[in-house]
Amino acid sequence: MNQIPERLTMVRERIRRAATACGRDPGDVTLLAVSKTKPLADVIAAYEAGQRLFGENYLQDALPKILGMPASDVEWHFIGRIQGNKTAEISRHFSWVHGLDRVHHAEQLSRYRPAGMADLQVCLQVNLSAEASKGGVAADQLPALARAVADLPRLRLRGLMTMPDPHATNDALHAAFSRLRHLRDRLNAEGSALDTLSMGMSGDLETAIAEGATIVRIGTDIFGARD
Ligand SMILES: *Cc1c(COP(=O)(O)O)cnc(C)c1O
Repeated sequence: MNQIPERLTMVRERIRRAATACGRDPGDVTLLAVSKTKPLADVIAAYEAGQRLFGENYLQDALPKILGMPASDVEWHFIGRIQGNKTAEISRHFSWVHGLDRVHHAEQLSRYRPAGMADLQVCLQVNLSAEASKGGVAADQLPALARAVADLPRLRLRGLMTMPDPHATNDALHAAFSRLRHLRDRLNAEGSALDTLSMGMSGDLETAIAEGATIVRIGTDIFGARD
């Protein structure tokens, strides 16, 4: 049974309550529905319930949905790890990329972004845990990456993204999200104009909103558990 409209309503209500609880305008928090691994029919069900922004992790899984979507007023966000041999297709089919962490990928996305399309909107992924295996640029490398990306044509640097350790305590989540906000503020003090903090998923959206999230990326609580 398809409970997507009801689940969407509940997630929107959680966002509204979380924003209000910390004195923020709920309209300043954008809901990105993460439809990875889910069928096109689920995306359409969410669309019919008013959702317009969708996040996907895997290019091959996303393309049939992007190309098959009957509506054109949909914004696709690539939130997965970027592979070098996929940058051309990513740059052609998505409006946003959230997981950029290497200058080389930025250069390729810039080169392949079709001139007739709007600039590709970009968030830099920051790795705030000590795990080298995880995606994201280290905080001390972030300013150099931000400068390099800001100089590339056809990309528009919008902000920062992070994926905290899934087993983090609530205190550790607050600390990680707050750290991302401070990194954004510091870049802005040095001349950037970043308006986006992409942080918060199904289990921690309230914490992320309390720390300033402007985009929350929600999969499970809209579309149900993934296999
Ligand atoms: C899968 C995924 C999400 C959504 O996670 P849920 O816990 O299902 O809400 C958000 N961001 C990224 C980068 C993801 O890969």
